[in-house]
Amino acid sequence: MPKKKSKFYVTTAIAYVNAAPHIGFAMEIIQADCLARYHRARGEDVWFLTGTDEHGTKIQQTAKKFEMTPQELADKNAPLFEKLAKDLNLSNDDFIRTSSARHKKGAAEIWKKLVEVGDIYKAEYKGHYCVGCEAFVTEKDLVNGKCPEHDKEPELVIEENYFFKLSKYSAQIAELIRSDELRVWPEARKNEILAVCEDGLTDVSFSRPVKTLEWGIPVPEDENQIMYVWCDALSNYVTALEGGEKFKKYWPADAHVIGKGILRFHAGVWIGMLLSAKLPIPKSICVHGYITSEGQKMSKSLGNTVDPFGIIEEWGCDPVRYYLLKEIPTMDDGDFSRDRFKAVYDSDLANNFGNLFSRVLAMTAKYFEGVVPASYEDKNVSEAVGQAWDKYDEYFECFDLKKACEEVYKLAALANQYVDENKPWELAKNDKEKLAKVIYVLLELLRHIAMMLWPFIPETADKMLVSLGHAGVYRAYEWGMLKEGGKVGSAGPLFPRKQV
Ligand SMILES: [Zn+2]
Repeated sequence: MPKKKSKFYVTTAIAYVNAAPHIGFAMEIIQADCLARYHRARGEDVWFLTGTDEHGTKIQQTAKKFEMTPQELADKNAPLFEKLAKDLNLSNDDFIRTSSARHKKGAAEIWKKLVEVGDIYKAEYKGHYCVGCEAFVTEKDLVNGKCPEHDKEPELVIEENYFFKLSKYSAQIAELIRSDELRVWPEARKNEILAVCEDGLTDVSFSRPVKTLEWGIPVPEDENQIMYVWCDALSNYVTALEGGEKFKKYWPADAHVIGKGILRFHAGVWIGMLLSAKLPIPKSICVHGYITSEGQKMSKSLGNTVDPFGIIEEWGCDPVRYYLLKEIPTMDDGDFSRDRFKAVYDSDLANNFGNLFSRVLAMTAKYFEGVVPASYEDKNVSEAVGQAWDKYDEYFECFDLKKACEEVYKLAALANQYVDENKPWELAKNDKEKLAKVIYVLLELLRHIAMMLWPFIPETADKMLVSLGHAGVYRAYEWGMLKEGGKVGSAGPLFPRKQV
């Protein structure tokens, strides 16, 4: 078993409130929640942060379109993300909004630290500016040299910005990643970002004049400049801890869970900022992939975006969590398909887990009046359970949640096989003594399965543990914790069949 950590601080990227939450963000917060719960179950002191990114030109423009102020738009959309967290049964301890006073104060403090060490300087910034967008556009955004939105060539604008001396930290960052002092999962992403850092990171533009960016955090002691996204958004991981005791206790983060598109900013800019501010760096960055819909890239124009609220309403929270954690490879791209969702619900949840629970509890009720028989250890089974826990822990250590979940699945398959091989209904007729042993082994298996499932599908796992008389016990790894004479109830159908 991996060593227990004294504390575990896990974060997600903050979601941009320009639009409603999408399924990719749902997956990210579920992954972080799964990690948080796993470490809670081990008795560690966990702090779990998620939140929203509320500044920038796009918010400003969208607000204008709806004749609102940017703050009004942020206040309207941020609660949707908080609702999603609630609907997904997230165990987050805090929710940070970047337009909040505590965040703005903290971001300004970090900025000042970078100024103190001389890592912020003023220089000319050259960029392509689209008047229609009222924003800088990159070469990548352009189609035939024109802004596709406005069918207009952008102007070359030169303005004065503050820059952050990221280049100064390139070699140091590369070494942190190479040595795994900053662990990037998976290995392929580590190598990719390591190559970028070894090539040398360039200084980054860190602010914009008020005339090109109004909606943001003012640069300390320069009212004509607004912080660009880096110092504003990335600093949330620190500002949410609000200095003092909480900061001392939880910083550095143990895991930043993010999407592959923003790895460069987290492994590059963010680490550079922390080194400059002389703050400890995070232990790991856990990088997930993207979700396609029915095999295609999700886009509004294709009309194939998946609304997380819709699927939660249709299937319930736990089936959605299970699909996103078990069917989508944790660190790679995956697909959301309605047919696959239904198939997984039926085969994994209703059959492999749900049926097993109902069957074993029903047999305990029928043959033993719902009372746990005398403790018994079947060495083959208890060894399989021990091995499953070992692998489960190993996979959690390297952010492979899917593989960890597969270990639980296999244990349930083993329990189902144990029922089929031992045929308790026949033992009931001719071998009561063996029947008691078989039922005890099965009940213990259920207990281990329920504990292992808790980080993935907490509501269901809690129901399972309640019906086994072990409510709230998530880390009793030994064999034989169920006591003879204990009362076992019924969980009811955990995953009722659905007609879709
Ligand atoms: Zn434009």
